Amino acid sequence: MLHASVETLSWDEQTALDAARYAEQLAYLVERSPFYRAKLGMASGAEAGALADVAQLPLTEKDELRATRTTETPFGTQLCVEPAELVRIYSTSGTTGAPSYIPLTAADLENWVTGSARSYAASGIGPGDRVVTTYNAGPFVAGAALDAFQRIGVTHVPLGTGTSDRLLLALEALRPTAIVLTPSYAAYLLEHGDLSGSSVRRVLVAGEPGGGEPVFRARLEAGWGAAVTEAMGIGDIGPSLWGECEQRDGMHLGARGFVHAELIDPATEAAVTLDEGAEGELVLTHLRHRAAPLLRFRTRDHVVVKTARCACGRTAPRIRCLGRTDDMLIVRGVNVFPSAVREVVGEFAPAVSGNVLVRPRSAGVKQEPPLPVSVELGRDVAPDEALAGSIRERLRGVLTVQTDVELVAFGALQRSEYKSRLIER
Ligand SMILES: [Zn+2]
Repeated sequence: MLHASVETLSWDEQTALDAARYAEQLAYLVERSPFYRAKLGMASGAEAGALADVAQLPLTEKDELRATRTTETPFGTQLCVEPAELVRIYSTSGTTGAPSYIPLTAADLENWVTGSARSYAASGIGPGDRVVTTYNAGPFVAGAALDAFQRIGVTHVPLGTGTSDRLLLALEALRPTAIVLTPSYAAYLLEHGDLSGSSVRRVLVAGEPGGGEPVFRARLEAGWGAAVTEAMGIGDIGPSLWGECEQRDGMHLGARGFVHAELIDPATEAAVTLDEGAEGELVLTHLRHRAAPLLRFRTRDHVVVKTARCACGRTAPRIRCLGRTDDMLIVRGVNVFPSAVREVVGEFAPAVSGNVLVRPRSAGVKQEPPLPVSVELGRDVAPDEALAGSIRERLRGVLTVQTDVELVAFGALQRSEYKSRLIER
């Protein structure tokens, strides 16, 4: 464990420490952030109440932050420090609009690296490991996570996103013991060669949901001959906030002490208690951030929480991400995540390749059944109406959703060297 005294501290003690940090953060926000001063309508942070009452404060939406950005104020009105105090400015990828700029002070960046290092170290990598990473250090928040590998003390081989051929050559030449990549890319590489005999013993996936789905994970583990663990961050809050330990039963909060986690019902915005098995949208609050701290930020990630004791000794709660709430469809009152469809379809391998594309007929969340789903056949597998029928039955049985399954030839669905698109709107 990277920071055993922190990571094994009882959760009650952590909560007490967090409560004190939260009071300081709220006082700071009301004093320094025009955005939150206006939003909260308070003269002092004390009016906000204690951490235990945080659910009574308003949520922060990404669009609200974006709306305060102008040519004069590229960070919006939530910037709390003098521009000269900023040591780095990241961009979000802008997949859902114009890019956002994420400013950081030196202390903010240090905390990001600390949290990331705990999250990645939880997977079992340490000094003596040789770790290939496939993130670009470029403009995006994920680049900050690269510093975590130096902190952990591994031999870091930063390959960035390049060609798969270059990556496969490096695997042969440098014989790394671990690799960090998106789950889509991990699956993609398996179609390019037999990697079960490679030197890689640990595959660390991050960047999109799916790496924790049992069938998909089993396929990656069999293909790579390696243990798969996942990590997850949220651009506006921090990289790799969560990281899975060797028990492989969900991602622990590695950024404990820096970030407070809550759950809400995404439809009603009501708070959901963080109990074993609780499910909802993840809402995060910075506890000791300086440049542009966020309060009750809606992540749009839909997660399941585990709070039962973990055999690894880490006391932080664990989560499994089910998908983005933006990708969620509601078919006759039933929530359906495209990644869950992929998971069920994956059980039919090798008859199927594991690639799926959900193609909702209408715009918006609510859909009338049957939901169209393209399912890619395995290599050299001929289309077969009985197979389509079996997949349809299985989807209805597991997800309670009626689908219209269309089988397509191997290679017909787009592959990704970064993040997969599972839904076509
Ligand atoms: Zn654990």
